[in-house]
Amino acid sequence: MTSPDDIAHNLARIRARIAEATARANRPAKAVTLVAVSKTHPAAAVEAALAAGQLVFGENRVQEAAGKFPALRPAWPALRLHVIGALQTNKARDAVRLADVIESLDRPKLAHALAEAMTKEGRRPDCLVQVNVGEEPQKAGILPAETDAFLRTCLEELGLPVRGLMCIPPAEGDPRPHFDWLAARAAQHGLPVVSMGMSGDFEAAIGCGATHVRVGSAIFGARA
Ligand SMILES: *Cc1c(COP(=O)(O)O)cnc(C)c1O
Repeated sequence: MTSPDDIAHNLARIRARIAEATARANRPAKAVTLVAVSKTHPAAAVEAALAAGQLVFGENRVQEAAGKFPALRPAWPALRLHVIGALQTNKARDAVRLADVIESLDRPKLAHALAEAMTKEGRRPDCLVQVNVGEEPQKAGILPAETDAFLRTCLEELGLPVRGLMCIPPAEGDPRPHFDWLAARAAQHGLPVVSMGMSGDFEAAIGCGATHVRVGSAIFGARA
């Protein structure tokens, strides 16, 4: 595991780069929330980040998150967990129980499962609709052309607490046209949250209007 000192140092460095990027974009520093992506890293790495003042985390597997986060909540009541990875419908109820934000609402079947799970659990974590901005066959997400209709289904038909949009742009090429598209689409729908940008491109995402950046390896080190 990356040492607690290195995690604290990396976090300080990322926070400084976020501050610089927000300043360059003439946006207030508080406009961007850092989601520290701790997937594959042990609970001790999360605790090191918490000790360094980081309260918002992202995990892409519900089972892994369930093994790490509930035990930390009593000591860190302000901790916020974002589920950011592909979610099977049979894990919807666990996700609703565990998460404060579900960023990976990516298909109608999952929307229905989450609505049912929220009713059963009496808990309503915020949701983000994940858009497959590059229309890549291997990637999850609603296609850009279907986003408006899907948002209507989620908000009007199912009453889901959808607060924004999320994307992972293609690995190759300039991500900024995709980031601009996502931010504009969120604004058009009056949605306040735009989750985009990872270790390699979070500054570009902030320049395009990201409100949440999801940074993993630049904080916790490379994943095995
Ligand atoms: C792993 C992951 C990240 C973080 O990626 P890094 O390149 O390690 O910063 C961000 N978003 C999602 C959806 C992820 O799965």
